[in-house]
Amino acid sequence: MAKLHFYYGVMASSKSALLCINAYNLKRTGNKFEVIKPSVDNRDSTSKIVSRIGLSTDARTIPNLDSYKPRRDTQFILIDEVQFFSPKDIDKLVEIADNSKTTIICYGLVVDSNGNMFPASKRLFEANAEKHEIETVCEMPGCVNSASHHLRFDEFGNVIRDGSQVEVGASQYKSVCRQHFNSIYYKLPNFNLLKYMHDEKNKHK
Ligand SMILES: [Zn+2]
Repeated sequence: MAKLHFYYGVMASSKSALLCINAYNLKRTGNKFEVIKPSVDNRDSTSKIVSRIGLSTDARTIPNLDSYKPRRDTQFILIDEVQFFSPKDIDKLVEIADNSKTTIICYGLVVDSNGNMFPASKRLFEANAEKHEIETVCEMPGCVNSASHHLRFDEFGNVIRDGSQVEVGASQYKSVCRQHFNSIYYKLPNFNLLKYMHDEKNKHK
């Protein structure tokens, strides 16, 4: 069994819920594990991972993995939001996976809201992590394609095309399929989400 796993999916595809279920099962079966996630600031602290459907687990938040060392008896390391670590941090995980008996399970996004890969996710692909896609459907009304991309909107419903990769919080994002991403992001400069949703609603009245 590969010892470095990457569960990837778009926002709101239940990645954190899966992590919480995994943590619960590892605890129930008496396995030793650690849960970590990248912090947006420079603090090393304890926090909670809370999934959208209400499951939660304790986690250690760390800015990077420079001085990270798993405990000697750790069998599993679960990592949330892995895309916000750096390629160097991923190299560190590879080193741990290759030189210990610890299995590392990463959860995260692949593509940001500008259609580019997160560097850490790219590094996981390059490192041949065992990949598991968490599929979910496109959030545009009536579309049944698999969601693979994100569109980011401001409060007025306009597409943000120059946002930073590390903007957190899902409320202004939509997880969409490639076709919807390409048509809205590149071909519809004046696309407005609020107007679109309003028109869609009226269509079905
Ligand atoms: Zn779609």
